[in-house]
Amino acid sequence: MLFYVDPEKCNRDGFCVEACGRRLIEMGKADSVPTLIAGVEELCINCGHCVAVCPSGALALQTMRPEDCPQIRDELLIDLEQAEQFLRSRRSIRNYKDKSVERDKLNKLIQVSGYAPSASNARPVHFLVIENKTEIRLLSGLVVIGCA
Ligand code: SF4
Repeated sequence: MLFYVDPEKCNRDGFCVEACGRRLIEMGKADSVPTLIAGVEELCINCGHCVAVCPSGALALQTMRPEDCPQIRDELLIDLEQAEQFLRSRRSIRNYKDKSVERDKLNKLIQVSGYAPSASNARPVHFLVIENKTEIRLLSGLVVIGCA
């Protein structure tokens, strides 16, 4: 099923209805839970906004569970000054340390990258993690040849 609402958890606040930019969700009649409007399934772009805004974790898509959308913690939001500092301090890395990045850190970074915006939430990015230095050198050479 594309769109599922747990009636026990849903508090009928209508946040998912408001969040859907495509206006595909409607509140059910009386005390029933929100539903997808009949016949619009193919218009859903799987953006996940409806899942992310549900404060009770009642809503799930086939491709996204409430656990995939942890709540935003207000105390960790950055202000304008912090955002400016963060963006200005960004540098492209040209020289790398001779030290492997911990596997846990790599996994976390790849997982977090999935929250980056993409058109229709298509996430058209794939990662290939190579830790073998000989293979890295081989690939680096191929990239240089490909760019020449
Ligand atoms: S995933 Fe996006 S487009 Fe689909 S029903 Fe939810 S909010 Fe609407």
